[in-house]
Amino acid sequence: MATNSHIEWTDATWNPVTGCSKISPGCKHCYAERLALRLQAMGQNNYRNGFEVTLQPQMLDLPLRWKSPRRIFVNSMSDLFHKRVPFGFVDRVFHTNVKGNIFCTQAAARLMMPQKSGKIILCASIVAVVGEPLLSIYTASKGAILAFCRAAALELAPYGINLNCVLPGTTKTDMSKDVIADPVVAKALIEPIPLGRLGTPEDLVGIIQYLASDEASWTTGQSFIVDGGHTMK
Ligand code: SF4
Repeated sequence: MATNSHIEWTDATWNPVTGCSKISPGCKHCYAERLALRLQAMGQNNYRNGFEVTLQPQMLDLPLRWKSPRRIFVNSMSDLFHKRVPFGFVDRVFHTNVKGNIFCTQAAARLMMPQKSGKIILCASIVAVVGEPLLSIYTASKGAILAFCRAAALELAPYGINLNCVLPGTTKTDMSKDVIADPVVAKALIEPIPLGRLGTPEDLVGIIQYLASDEASWTTGQSFIVDGGHTMK
């Protein structure tokens, strides 16, 4: 795991799989490939196979040992759903992805219960509510977070704790800027968005500030889509 990531919207990256295969014009300037080859040259064991798809089972349990909250970019260096990644391995990552939200909610709720107040905000994705081809397992893990949010909000309501979920659409990040630089890919990503552009991390600030504020004290168990209108169609 890399800590102190240079990607502005994340604190660290976590890659239970490394490597990928180029499958589309959007892969032409693959950031993950460039970095993997650099890390291989630096002698990092997880990148001993360069950009070849490689399972990293020693990384699977790492998030369950973290003691403090952090923003994690999962699989920044790979395609988790590559055909060479066995389903059983994806299943283990799926559980880590979902359990991370559950365990963080439990840990935060334990601190908030004695004071009889608190706001917890989960982050899923619009794929939790709309189908997206080639993302079925990812979609299922985001749907699980949404279902968990609804049920856990009921359990936490007697303690004065609000639990809500934000569902962002396709968001422009430092990591994706090379892919978006390809006009074909950029057009395909923007075309279904009525507001005519991809999101930015700043686009999520308003809703999160609201959900963390006293103004949202009567709002719980809800999901909030921030996607430029993508899911209206
Ligand atoms: S990581 Fe993404 S951009 Fe890179 S080769 Fe795989 S699919 Fe293409």
